[in-house]
Amino acid sequence: MMFFSHLLFGILSGFLGCKFLGCGNEFLFAAIAAVASVIPDIDHLYSKVSRKLPPFAVVLSVFRHRGFIHSLFPPLILYFVLIKLDYLLAAATLVGYASHLVLDAATTNGIRPLYPVIKIRIAGFIRTNSFAEKVITLMLLVLAIAFAFSEILRFI
Ligand SMILES: [Zn+2]
Repeated sequence: MMFFSHLLFGILSGFLGCKFLGCGNEFLFAAIAAVASVIPDIDHLYSKVSRKLPPFAVVLSVFRHRGFIHSLFPPLILYFVLIKLDYLLAAATLVGYASHLVLDAATTNGIRPLYPVIKIRIAGFIRTNSFAEKVITLMLLVLAIAFAFSEILRFI
C-alpha cells in the first residue's frame, strides 16, 4: 500500500482505538497512530519515509522488505518499551503500527506476521497503487474527515 493510504488508515484506526480505549484526546492519539502507521515501510529502501531518512534506510535495508519489520514483533516490542513511559503513547503506537500490517495483509504481496519464526504469509487481493487501492484510499479519506468532524462537533 502507498504512503497516503497507510497514513489515512492510521488516523482512522487512531480515532477508533481511542474510542475503544476511552482515551481523553482523540486527536493526539490519532496523530501518534498516524506517525506509527508509516514507520514499517522504512524497510523499503525507496519508500517515502526512507527517502527522507536515508541513514535509517541503509541500516534497515539489511532487513528485507516485508520481513521482520512487517511482522507483529516490532509493534509488540515498541509497545512494551513505550508502556514504561506512557500507556496511551504505547497503545497509539501499537494501533498505528498494526493498522499498517492489516492494510499490507490485504495486498497481493501480503505480510509474514510471525517472520522470521514462522514464515507463513497472509495476503489479500489488492494490488499496490491499483485502481482498487485508490478507491479504498478515497473511502479512508472520507471516513477520516467524517470522524474528525464528528469529534470537532462534540466540542462545539
Ligand atoms: Zn508496508
